[in-house]
Amino acid sequence: MNNENPAELEGFARLGISGALLKAATNAGFTDPKPIQAQSIPAQLEGRDILGVAQTGSGKTAAFALPILSKIIALGTRRRPKTARALILVPTRELAVQIEETFRLLSKGAHISTALVLGGVSRFSQVKKLAPGVDVLIATPGRLTDLVREGDVILSETTWLVLDEADRMLDMGFINDVRRLAKATHPARQTALFSATMPPEIEQLAQGLLRNPARVEVAPQGTTAAEIHQSVVMARTRQKRQVLSTMLADPGMRSVIVFARTKHGADRVTRDLERDGFEAAVIHGNKSQNARQKALNGFRDGSVRILVATDIAARGIDVPGISHVVNFDLPDEAESYVHRIGRTGRNGADGVAITLCDPAEASKLRAVERIIRMRLPVARDHTGEPDPRPEPRVRDMAALKPDNDQGGRGEGRAQRPDQRRRDGGKPGQGKPFPGKPGEHKAGERKPFRAKRRRFGGKRPAAKAA
Ligand code: AMP
Repeated sequence: MNNENPAELEGFARLGISGALLKAATNAGFTDPKPIQAQSIPAQLEGRDILGVAQTGSGKTAAFALPILSKIIALGTRRRPKTARALILVPTRELAVQIEETFRLLSKGAHISTALVLGGVSRFSQVKKLAPGVDVLIATPGRLTDLVREGDVILSETTWLVLDEADRMLDMGFINDVRRLAKATHPARQTALFSATMPPEIEQLAQGLLRNPARVEVAPQGTTAAEIHQSVVMARTRQKRQVLSTMLADPGMRSVIVFARTKHGADRVTRDLERDGFEAAVIHGNKSQNARQKALNGFRDGSVRILVATDIAARGIDVPGISHVVNFDLPDEAESYVHRIGRTGRNGADGVAITLCDPAEASKLRAVERIIRMRLPVARDHTGEPDPRPEPRVRDMAALKPDNDQGGRGEGRAQRPDQRRRDGGKPGQGKPFPGKPGEHKAGERKPFRAKRRRFGGKRPAAKAA
């Protein structure tokens, strides 16, 4: 413990972090707390629940990891089999892996055990790791629901719960799993909910799960970081391949993430880029965990300059130094735009976000502009130079007929939320609690009442908001 006068302390020590954690944070290069950390760590150390409006890149992982670790260390080492002291629920496997890395980094020398429970990889090793009980469990809701149902994980002793990227878990259809898992944890738990956006469903979820939370917000909802230069390039769908390849010929586009709306679309963009002589990696929900991690590692270490991704696969990925985000398609959900472009412009570095827009995507573009509360300038290309064509937006969007092949050429229809794959992984993953393993078809849901019974015994009373 630190006996110094708090007024004389600096950095994380001033926020109440001490001992091995403080040392690990300093060794990791975390000396000055980020705003989300300064705002939320003291409140969590006091035992408050947190409602955080923050994106990946804000430093939110350490904002919840440090206070949780601090409390777990204070408890000593006693753990019960199959239990987890802290549970971090996240929408994607990549984010889970990243969060575990941060927990490990920050708890170096503190004898903290962590475990991952993720869809798409063997459950055997996960169950084995959980058998003696762990301090911190990081999980995607689908697979964890399976393991709880099968009795491989017991959450009743979980006293710290974090819901990370709650809005994305909602988008991915995890919300009922999240509610059930939260209710299976200890009734007197401490909870933190982080979300990049606050749609009414998330406000409602927060009201049900959080007790008198401290609200922390690092970027106003729906706005994007100032250091990202955004523009839209008008291009018909069939021209987009060429527009993209022409842009990428500029070596100034150092590290580029290209977003496609669908998995097929992502594969097609990657194939076309390779045919045009570029080396590109791709991540989406049909790729194995290994393939996704390999693609990410190559992108992260700079050996691959271009990463093509779908929204869900890219969610939460923190790769520093991404110079450009290219939206090959407009996203189906306008809020995804904010998440997409948030991959660049990190840590004060300049970032560029370019959106290729076919006239048929005009309504999606308008929806994005409503969310970000600004009109995107129409540029000629990735340099941001204005489009020299007279009234390009009016001409291209109103006067020109959309491409006939918009949405065609194997791109597939937009997925309805109930068709989206959970965990971004294989069909059949993430079954609800009830029933025996393998009893359900992919996507089939049982009535909620039945699920409750399966959980066994009396459920802890929901906390008052
Ligand atoms: P996150 O939003 O948690 O994904 O964090 C974004 C990035 O910021 C990660 O690469 C962290 O390692 C880094 N980071 C978080 N907190 C700090 C800090 N206080 N000082 C320096 N880097 C940090």
